[in-house]
Amino acid sequence: MRREKSEQAYREAVGFIPGGVNSPVRALKSVGASPVFIEKAKGCKLTDIDGNTFTDFCLSWGVFTLGHNHPVVNKAVRRAVSKGTSYGIPSLQETELARLVCSYIPGMERVRFVNSGTEAVMSAIRLARGYTGRNIVIKFDGCYHGHVDHMLVSAGSGVAGLGNSSSAGVPDNFVSYTISLPFNDTETVERVFEAKGKDIAAVILEPVPANMGVILPKEGFLYRLRELADQYGSLLVFDEVITGFRLSIGGVQQLFGIIPDLTAIGKIVGGGFPAAAFGGRADIMSLLAPDGPVYQAGTLSGNPVAMSAGIATLSLLSIEGFYRRLNRKADDFIQKLKESVSGKGIVINHIGSMFTLFFSEHEINSFEDVKKADQKRFGEFFRYMLARNFYISPSMFEASFISIAHDRKELDRFIETASKFQD
Ligand SMILES: *Cc1c(COP(=O)(O)O)cnc(C)c1O
Repeated sequence: MRREKSEQAYREAVGFIPGGVNSPVRALKSVGASPVFIEKAKGCKLTDIDGNTFTDFCLSWGVFTLGHNHPVVNKAVRRAVSKGTSYGIPSLQETELARLVCSYIPGMERVRFVNSGTEAVMSAIRLARGYTGRNIVIKFDGCYHGHVDHMLVSAGSGVAGLGNSSSAGVPDNFVSYTISLPFNDTETVERVFEAKGKDIAAVILEPVPANMGVILPKEGFLYRLRELADQYGSLLVFDEVITGFRLSIGGVQQLFGIIPDLTAIGKIVGGGFPAAAFGGRADIMSLLAPDGPVYQAGTLSGNPVAMSAGIATLSLLSIEGFYRRLNRKADDFIQKLKESVSGKGIVINHIGSMFTLFFSEHEINSFEDVKKADQKRFGEFFRYMLARNFYISPSMFEASFISIAHDRKELDRFIETASKFQD
């Protein structure tokens, strides 16, 4: 595989951009590789600047349920661009996407658009604190909620991949109201609520974590969090930035029937553009400026290009049977993949179209379990797959994804290739 142009591009990028990347995991450090620079993408395929093509299982971190560069989304975007790209004044597209989001996601009666998942979470937490008049926020080890100061405690995703789970530059005081607890450990959460319940503004979690690799919530875990939040007057906040519009049209909350007070979404909802949103109960959302005292704003928020991409995307995802087809394709793929790698010390966690391969002899149900998995072998596997033209998410602290554009031939080739790893 030719890599000269990507390697040269990387050397140049490093001279201007810290680490050569605008988001740390892209540097491929935790898997011992250097970045490929992408020229273009279409469907499930990426083409790099050396002319190599890859079947993409990262999909811009789960953004592209429909595959890259979908013609319908593309057309909507081009139409929007031809009318100007931002007004800083309301446009009809904002209400239209808001109407779609509120109609699909059960917990979102009102929604406000922002530009990134980080902003969505930051704003949801500020609102939860404003609403409850309390400060403490409970999160869970290995969940990632963007790079908000007070959420960078025992965080997953890129922070974990670099061998850390917090960040320099965050004053101790900023995290003094953050309590991070083990995921799936109901008893510990109960104990903390008993001790501090009246000071807890919110419990926030990825209801199906994807940022420590995919972890499934144990039976009853989400339900118990809902009960505890109600009992103590705290808010339950679901960070569905990855899972929103990934597992079903209504997210994990619809799938599991647990409705949070506030929800953050991102990734898919922007149709490939920088858009995200937070929303929830109308009475809570009414506390936001300009109606209420909780301030939040954004120059490019709700900009017509991103809104148009989101509308076109959701209109395709909401077609009857879409998720049934996607999930069946994914279930079938994972089932065959599991069979073909059995006996190799690989655990595959999966739900719907998201999955992670862990190199471990044990079940993986928590951040502690993930940290014990073999990161070095994961790196070897990543490089092995990359050399054979498959781009999986480059860390075991991440999920990989499939889209509706992945056809059987590509999926079978993935399985065959993976099954020959270290034979
Ligand atoms: C990606 C992600 C975020 C952060 O979103 P950005 O758009 O990268 O700021 C927050 N929460 C979860 C669960 C995510 O997967």
